Amino acid sequence: MHLPFDNSYSRLPATFFTRVMPTPVQAPRLVKVNETLARELGIDPSVLASPEGVEVLAGRRVPEGADPIAMAYAGHQFGQFVPQLGDGRAILLGEVVDRAGRRRDIQLKGSGPTPFSRRGDGRAALGPVLREYLASEAMAALGIPTTRALAAVTTGEMVVRDAFLPGAVLTRVASSHVRVGTFQFFAARGDVEGLRRLADYVIARHDPDLADAPDRYRRFLDAVVARQAALVARWMHVGFIHGVMNTDNMAVSGETIDYGPCAFMDAYDPETVFSSIDHAGRYAYANQPVIAQWNLARLAECLLTIMAPTPEEALPMAQASIATFRERFDEAYLAGLRRKLGLREAREEDAALAQDLLDRMATNTADFTLVFRRLCDAAADPAADGPVRDLFIDPTSFDAWAATWRVRLAAEGGDAMERRAAMRRENPAVIPRNHRVEAAIEAAVERGDLAPFEALHAVLATPFDEPAGPEGFAAPPPPDQRVYRTFCGT
Ligand code: AMP
Ligand code: MG
Repeated sequence: MHLPFDNSYSRLPATFFTRVMPTPVQAPRLVKVNETLARELGIDPSVLASPEGVEVLAGRRVPEGADPIAMAYAGHQFGQFVPQLGDGRAILLGEVVDRAGRRRDIQLKGSGPTPFSRRGDGRAALGPVLREYLASEAMAALGIPTTRALAAVTTGEMVVRDAFLPGAVLTRVASSHVRVGTFQFFAARGDVEGLRRLADYVIARHDPDLADAPDRYRRFLDAVVARQAALVARWMHVGFIHGVMNTDNMAVSGETIDYGPCAFMDAYDPETVFSSIDHAGRYAYANQPVIAQWNLARLAECLLTIMAPTPEEALPMAQASIATFRERFDEAYLAGLRRKLGLREAREEDAALAQDLLDRMATNTADFTLVFRRLCDAAADPAADGPVRDLFIDPTSFDAWAATWRVRLAAEGGDAMERRAAMRRENPAVIPRNHRVEAAIEAAVERGDLAPFEALHAVLATPFDEPAGPEGFAAPPPPDQRVYRTFCGT
């Protein structure tokens, strides 16, 4: 089996990783191959789905050209610094340059222990693998930067968590797996040469325009800040809650990474927290921009020693860069809200208009996704207000807001049908609703039934289209199916 590997990370100094082979598993079986993504990578999907391909995806066979490594990194977990984390259950097989010329990592997640496993078993359970598959592919379909799922396989072995669960391996594709925590790994060791090597490596990979700039480290920080501000704004627009925004789970590429206890909210509530381990609500929906900026400040600290000849010169540069996060985020967030509301022009009062709607949604426990989706029709015709009003406990609360919104729309003019079409491209009809994800996982894990997973995956591929069929994929959970807690399952 030949995959077009072209590895670069494994040629960095030995401190960056440990060479380690995946641990073979008993009886691998294919769950899913992402055919579109495989082709994008220049890989024939039927080869991946073949018995030999499944052995590779399960870590039983290492393909020619792979150079398997576990990457070293550190990180702040819930605010506590851990000087060594690293790939404890993931192994980077190597990189390929895709058809568009982009370098992409191919990584197995759940492929056995590594020197970074600490007390973990290096394995993944089928549930979290399916969750990541669904969530990351949904994000991609929503147009949000994210790592991708190339394949999922079961291992034929059980993993021990709270119970015995079927084991699985996810093949993850990322534009790189370098995290804020990777920088922290070198900074914590005082390895300035390692830091510089890492920074130059990621600049060449993600910001090649900066490669020859004398002030490239400062500008690299700016670029990461800009990417994260844009990314977190996009999360907010779709009601996504990452759940574990530890610095080791923030990629400098600007892709969403590490789908553990992540979830999309149903009813709008800025305080929403799903993760069972996030007791203090550190990673609550509304806190995400604050935390992103906090994480970026940790990256800035790492770069201080290489950014300028002296810390006295570096510090104000780093502070200025971090300070831009808020304005970049606010701008991206507001721009997205405007698009969600069908506003093409930018006016002073737009932020207040959007916030007023969100406040009313929170008070009325209105469904985040459905309000915006149904607004598309209401924007074109006030006769379509009914379905939006129905989402509010007190429908007159919506009416009061809608009156102001309509004045604003009228002032702007424009074609109503065009506006509706534009809004429908911004406001998804379907998101990976928690109760649906849980049901798909339960069917697969408890009964070996992949049909609900497949059906959900299919509708999530075109989130801006009304889902066909009677399954009600767009609908919020009935009260008895609401999910309040998610688990990372590690
Ligand atoms: P996460 O919470 O998924 O970001 O993982 C945090 C750290 O724990 C990383 O260093 C992981 O590699 C490690 N880890 C998570 N689950 C396992 C596992 N089952 N076995 C070994 N290491 C793990
Ligand atoms: Mg992680």
